[in-house]
Amino acid sequence: MRPRHVRASHRNSIILMIQLYHHQTADATPSVVAARAVSCRPMSLARRLLLRASRSAWLAGQLRDRAFLRRAVRRFMPGEELPAALGAAVELAALGIGSVLTQLGEQVAARGEAARVRDHYLDVLAQVGARRLPAEISVKLTHLGLDVDRAACLADVQVLARAAADAGSFLWIDMEESRYVDATLELFRSVRSAHERVGVCLQAYLRRTPADLGALLPFAPAIRLVKGAYNEPATMAYPSKRDVDAAYLVLAERLLERVARREARAVFGTHDLALVKRVRERATTLRVAPGSYEVHMLYGIRSPEQRALAREGVPVRVLISYGTHWFPWYMRRLAERPANVWFVVRNLI
Ligand SMILES: Cc1cc2nc3c(=O)[nH]c(=O)nc-3n(C[C@H](O)[C@H](O)[C@H](O)COP(=O)(O)OP(=O)(O)OC[C@H]3O[C@@H](n4cnc5c(N)ncnc54)[C@H](O)[C@@H]3O)c2cc1C
Repeated sequence: MRPRHVRASHRNSIILMIQLYHHQTADATPSVVAARAVSCRPMSLARRLLLRASRSAWLAGQLRDRAFLRRAVRRFMPGEELPAALGAAVELAALGIGSVLTQLGEQVAARGEAARVRDHYLDVLAQVGARRLPAEISVKLTHLGLDVDRAACLADVQVLARAAADAGSFLWIDMEESRYVDATLELFRSVRSAHERVGVCLQAYLRRTPADLGALLPFAPAIRLVKGAYNEPATMAYPSKRDVDAAYLVLAERLLERVARREARAVFGTHDLALVKRVRERATTLRVAPGSYEVHMLYGIRSPEQRALAREGVPVRVLISYGTHWFPWYMRRLAERPANVWFVVRNLI
């Protein structure tokens, strides 16, 4: 049962959550708040604060074990352990929807930790292969020790790419903050030269991405195009949603042109249904069949629309996150839609 009175020890978290929500809601109903969250304004203060919170080890320590936050996180995560994620993948498969599994974690500081992450994913791939699940995996290079030992990280990714191919699965490489882009793309190119079943994420908000895409296209790459989830300076990334959406569409069209020539695997990782509609219209114009490109979304977001797209013949995958290290990831999910803070507050009172 929830306590009638919120304990004093919750005070800091309540203040933070209410402040964040208040920045969005001072004079608005929840529907107005939601509309504002998707408006064309440059990055809101709430989003900036949440992205800053995602980098705070102190805040993670304060909030991670609070029951109200754990309840709120469940909306985006079937559970902290792998069996829960595999169970969700089985349920999605029954609906004709594939999945992508990712263990939460980033920026490990010790090689042994990175090796445990590699071994965990090897186990995931073995289970996916044995159960013939339509599931792929997605990894963060800093979770595999990119900051600690780049050569060992590359070797681990090669091992995972081979295991993914053996399991009939696929290995995706996430894109993290802009300071990791060069290293991520370099590593991707090395792995891609030896393995086919590996792809990388590109972020439309980065001003450099059109050039990065151009450099990757000769490799007949698999690209997951997303808007971008981190707090980047305006010199690196477009601050306004309108500019990010426009950049996304241009990149999507370049990818679709390659798909039309069977020279790329294109994945559109977005919940922006207006954008998905426009991408699909471009595909039709380019005579790219709906079954030739994919839409990937996150677990718990836009679930009815995921099913509708799958019914219309668009291959859909859901990225399922699991693990105990969810705080930074969850803060980024809140930042994507600061009105989500309301769900946290509701779990608190
Ligand atoms: C499969 C997948 C993989 C990703 N991989 C990466 C990666 O490797 N690197 C990276 O930087 N980013 C990654 N992202 C996150 C991405 O960059 C965006 O931050 C995120 O997808 C939100 O942007 P959007 O495209 O959905 O559009 P938005 O314009 O942000 O949202 C469009 C609409 O979708 C809904 N929505 C979006 N986010 C949420 C949310 N959190 N809660 C509730 N509703 C929401 C809202 O209704 C919103 O109006 C990934 C996203 C997906 C779907």
